[in-house]
Amino acid sequence: MTSGDGFETRAIHAGQEPDPSTGAIVPPISLATTFVQEAVGKHRGYEYSRSGNPTRAAMETCIASLEGARHGLAFASGLAAEDAILRTLDPGDHIIIPNDAYGGTFRLVARVYERLGISWTACDLRDLSALEAAWQPETTMVWVESPTNPLLSVVDIAAVAKLAHTRAARVIVDNTFATPYLQQPLALGAHASLHSSTKYLGGHSDVVGGFIAVNDAEFADELRFLQNAMGAVPSPFDCYLVLRGVKTLALRMREHCSNAQAIVRMLREHDAVAQVLYPDESEVARRQMRDFGGMVSFLANDEDTALELVTRTRLFTLAESLGAVESLIEHPARMTHASAAGSPLEVDPRLVRLSVGIESQADLVADLKNALDSLAND
Ligand SMILES: *Cc1c(COP(=O)(O)O)cnc(C)c1O
Repeated sequence: MTSGDGFETRAIHAGQEPDPSTGAIVPPISLATTFVQEAVGKHRGYEYSRSGNPTRAAMETCIASLEGARHGLAFASGLAAEDAILRTLDPGDHIIIPNDAYGGTFRLVARVYERLGISWTACDLRDLSALEAAWQPETTMVWVESPTNPLLSVVDIAAVAKLAHTRAARVIVDNTFATPYLQQPLALGAHASLHSSTKYLGGHSDVVGGFIAVNDAEFADELRFLQNAMGAVPSPFDCYLVLRGVKTLALRMREHCSNAQAIVRMLREHDAVAQVLYPDESEVARRQMRDFGGMVSFLANDEDTALELVTRTRLFTLAESLGAVESLIEHPARMTHASAAGSPLEVDPRLVRLSVGIESQADLVADLKNALDSLAND
């Protein structure tokens, strides 16, 4: 393994030398909670499994490598990772968040951190003058999501990072939708790239997890301190599942992208669809992403049509979450983004969100088209 190795090679080998004691090709799931010390403080790098665990270390090394990062930290969920980042703020600080942030991000900032003395402004980060207008003397962090959940809007990460650097604020990018295969925020100037590894990194709807990749050693130390102090760490089995998932990340992402594009072509032609939201129309996305991802959102003609449609697909299963091999469909206003009701982040009730899986492309297109046709014929 050298740092010059390609993405697919690093996904399979980074952090995963054969086990020195047995030669096992796959890193063992290290369940031990504690590790022998030869003398006080003299050990082989592990003392207690909350502060460090060999399976977790393998996964942290691997995903950090995929993000082009020097440091990686795993958490028990995406929101636990977000919480660790937000805990680096001090009372009195101000944070700028996207006006269509993931519902859980909004809830954490508005309902948990606001009480702790952190103020916030939601703004359209695609518009740099809106970002400047939202800026306050106390602004120390800008939270970027790109593409966003659920509107799939694309933010120019390099442009936001450039502005934030001149004002000594940190830029955090929620890279969950793009994954490091499609987009590398640190190379664009962000201070941290964050994931819900529950989604594409895990990729199989069977593990909840979070991840932060950073380059700056001081920021990494601060986050590692919080990771241990708060204790929201993933279990060794969870780490094993995510490590196993990322081995096929590139392959899966190529299929997610190609299937999503076939779905988008069909939706753009369909009368029951008012508007399709997909990053392919963004010039910034073409510049900062390798491809446009597996998430597709669209507006049905009205809310009733949207609510009826999500019950009529056969392969697209009605469920929250995203980013796994199976295709899912949902109604953000009443499901994933219900907590944003009445806020500046409230979602259009006509909106339908698809997580396009890696089933046969023709089957997926036919499934959605049949459901849409059946509505038109009612
Ligand atoms: C799911 C999700 C999160 C939260 O992650 P959990 O693993 O569910 O805690 C954060 N950001 C985005 C974009 C997500 O989709």
